[in-house]
Amino acid sequence: MSRCAALIVAAGRGSRFGGPKPKQYLDLAGQSVIRRAVLPFVGHAAVDVVQVVIHPDDAAICAHALAGLDLPPPVAGGASRQDSVRLGLESLAEHKPDLVLIHDAARPFVTGAIIERVLAALGSAPAAIAAQPVVDTLKRGGGSDAGVVVETIARAGLWRAQTPQGFHFEAILAAHRRFAGAGLTDDAAVAEQAGLTVKLVAGDEDNIKVTNETDWAQAVRIAAADLETRSASGFDVHRFAPGDAVTLCGVSIPHSARLEGHSDADVALHALTDALLGTIGAGDIGLHFPPSDPQWRGAESGQFLRHAAALVAQAGGRIVHVDLTLICERPKLGPHRERMRAKLAELLAIPLARVSIKATTTEGLGFTGRGEGIAAQAIATVQLPASEGD
Ligand code: MG
Repeated sequence: MSRCAALIVAAGRGSRFGGPKPKQYLDLAGQSVIRRAVLPFVGHAAVDVVQVVIHPDDAAICAHALAGLDLPPPVAGGASRQDSVRLGLESLAEHKPDLVLIHDAARPFVTGAIIERVLAALGSAPAAIAAQPVVDTLKRGGGSDAGVVVETIARAGLWRAQTPQGFHFEAILAAHRRFAGAGLTDDAAVAEQAGLTVKLVAGDEDNIKVTNETDWAQAVRIAAADLETRSASGFDVHRFAPGDAVTLCGVSIPHSARLEGHSDADVALHALTDALLGTIGAGDIGLHFPPSDPQWRGAESGQFLRHAAALVAQAGGRIVHVDLTLICERPKLGPHRERMRAKLAELLAIPLARVSIKATTTEGLGFTGRGEGIAAQAIATVQLPASEGD
């Protein structure tokens, strides 16, 4: 099987798009543009290595945008896009890939299906690009009066080039070396200069390049349409043991008993951790933090919750809301509710308004009614990219 590398080109400064950050690092519905552009390659079985090319000034912002992904360190690009791609290809040479897919970090909606079409075409040609046929009638403007139609250009056979653009690695590396500095705006043009046959395969109308405010507005619409909402529940019980305080939502609450457990026995955070794991089908708290493992003895349960939240974030998810119900006769929890909410909001790094905590009794019935322990149930609601896991 051939080895395939992906090269994600993110070295541009985005000067055509105002704002404090280069556009590829902007947050698009909870996930940066570059992260969206990288994930379909990271998740594709045929892609062995994903190499990002960045501007040397962007190392910190890039590390933040791609946190948690298992990628080689970014390489520094050059003064032009063509230079950046050549430098990225040189950095991949030691991996000796057979194929390379070159993709713009500013195209956040590339899909596995597009990647597959480009790869399939590379079975019969040294180069293949995703592209869309031109459907609008094309006019050349100009004349003495600016904005006057001078001619109509036949659109038959015209395509709009997208990325990814795929190549036999040695062929495109040689072409980039030979035509370095030629000022070409895509890699297919470099391949054409070298006389390589470039196949056209279908891209996607949503596979847009975000370059200006209009593109951005369209990207926001596409990202919103792509999100799905998932809710999952969690439940936990801990029994009372002799002591003088219980820990709920990371807050110590004075009581005539403590909660017994291997960790700090924070029943509220355990239920909520399970709910968050449930939204991404990632098992339960015992799978991630086995009670048999001595390192979790007396552990603060906040770290369990933060781990679950990090897994949700890695899956491209955003926590919309969490809702917790604590069930016990005592201690009375009302006076502590706001402190618990604030702590949960802090642990999850979400606004207070997205955190709900309720308390109830069971009217003296059952184990909670007899004061034998505390039960907690939680529901977490997250938004995730709909393509995730499909
Ligand atoms: Mg527990």
